[in-house]
Amino acid sequence: MPCMADKRFSLTNQYAIILRLMAKKVRVRFAPSPTGGLHLGGVRTVLYNYLFAKQQGGDFILRIEDTDQSRYVPGAEEYIYQTLEWCGLQPDESPKHGGNVGPYRQSERKELYRKYAEQLVEKGVAYYAFDTAGELDEMRIRLRTETNPTPQYDHTVRMQMRNSLVLAKDEVDTLLQNGTPHVIRIKMPEGETVSFTDAIRGEVSFETATVDDKVLLKADGMPTYHLAVVVDDHLMEITHAFRGEEWLPSAPVHVLVWRHLFGEEAMPQWAHLPLILGPSGKLSKRDGAKYGFPVFAMNWNDSKTGELTEGFKEKGFLPEAFVNLLAMLGWNDGTEQELFSLEELVQRFSIEKVHRGGAKFDYDKAKWFNHEWIKKVPVEALMPQVKAVLAEHGVQVTDDAYLSNVIALVKDRCTLLPDFWEHSAFFFKAPVEYDTIAVKAKWNEEKKAFFHSYNKALYSVSSWDAATLETVFKSLAETAAIKPGELQLPFRIMLVGGKFGPTVFNIAEVLGKKETISRIDAALNQFKDLR
Ligand code: GLU
Repeated sequence: MPCMADKRFSLTNQYAIILRLMAKKVRVRFAPSPTGGLHLGGVRTVLYNYLFAKQQGGDFILRIEDTDQSRYVPGAEEYIYQTLEWCGLQPDESPKHGGNVGPYRQSERKELYRKYAEQLVEKGVAYYAFDTAGELDEMRIRLRTETNPTPQYDHTVRMQMRNSLVLAKDEVDTLLQNGTPHVIRIKMPEGETVSFTDAIRGEVSFETATVDDKVLLKADGMPTYHLAVVVDDHLMEITHAFRGEEWLPSAPVHVLVWRHLFGEEAMPQWAHLPLILGPSGKLSKRDGAKYGFPVFAMNWNDSKTGELTEGFKEKGFLPEAFVNLLAMLGWNDGTEQELFSLEELVQRFSIEKVHRGGAKFDYDKAKWFNHEWIKKVPVEALMPQVKAVLAEHGVQVTDDAYLSNVIALVKDRCTLLPDFWEHSAFFFKAPVEYDTIAVKAKWNEEKKAFFHSYNKALYSVSSWDAATLETVFKSLAETAAIKPGELQLPFRIMLVGGKFGPTVFNIAEVLGKKETISRIDAALNQFKDLR
């Protein structure tokens, strides 16, 4: 567990980092393993890296960490690109976008890692291990106790195993020459404290004896994450690395690999981002299914449930809202402001203001962000998305001007994009059913006559706008000695079918003269037997 460390180390270390960073262009990376969809936490990591890089005029690199081929999911890499594109967080360099320090897929860099692992062996800080799977199992069974149910390959065990620390040099050479399968493991020191400065947590320290001798290079020649992450962060000149706090326990291994390969002072500035918590603690898979993770539907089935996962995109979130709500999961700028565009976030973000504690994800709050953003974005920006919602209900919009008026009128009522159907369907389909119960109670011959005369008047109104329609309505109501309030409900039901929707005169304005008149006619026909 991290603890507070020596202040002297901290200051020297920080000073060295500051000096180095002053001279270097900021370069950050997001380094996902293509093992599934991108969830909230992953995209928030991208976002914080991206915001920081763009604020500093730096580069944002996407590196695919696919060294664990057994966990590789076909399609996952493409999914990552699509997610970043949807969020508007495009990498400057990636396997897809290219760049000067590629390849950006670790499996394509396989050959370059061995030499670094061997350098560590030469320095005496790593060793060859020839133990077979059977021997490892045997060790775990032999050393298993109640207090230590899964014994690790560590300093207490290593001298009982078949590795280059134990075997004679000749024997090791022969084994290597014969191509005997082997891995390279780091030799974690026994009594050392390893520390580094985390941009969010300050000084963090670890006792090295508590960390096992992690494999750095596997028997198939592939590096593990622990080696590849350090070598690539170095070769790709990464200056800052923000990642999830689940990687904090691995940090001492990385610090030591840095120390022995490139010098600790060359390490990127680390920030370990706090977890995102669900309503009842840790964000679970169940929460995921319920609240709409990952970012959008994966084109593969969930391996456990066999279900296709629905994401934020399918639920009808706008990317602007999604990015905004993610940014606020663990950060604020110290003011009450909650709505930020990506551009504003780039200006205002600071890694030091990221909270240390886990951020709670609240789906209702997420919807609030979306509602605010639907209100905020211009009508034109919503057109393609609303068209898609309508198309799902069989409505193909051809008149963009009409759609734009509809959106302008109803957008403030919509929380998620699919709500546009509920709030605007009647603009595209005249009612076939009417809430006659609501009309019936107060329907009479005078009202019927009023609507006949109003419909007639509508043919010749000077200007088709809500204000004029209302003025004519009120003056005819006055002539008929009926309270306008009593006429507005039936009018609404004539146009909409039910008791909902925006101001009725605005609805009529958008529907247009022909459609309004025809709807009044059709409704009067339906209402003729009401009494
Ligand atoms: N490949 C790691 C992951 O999948 C990257 C961790 C890091 O950023 O160092 O999350």
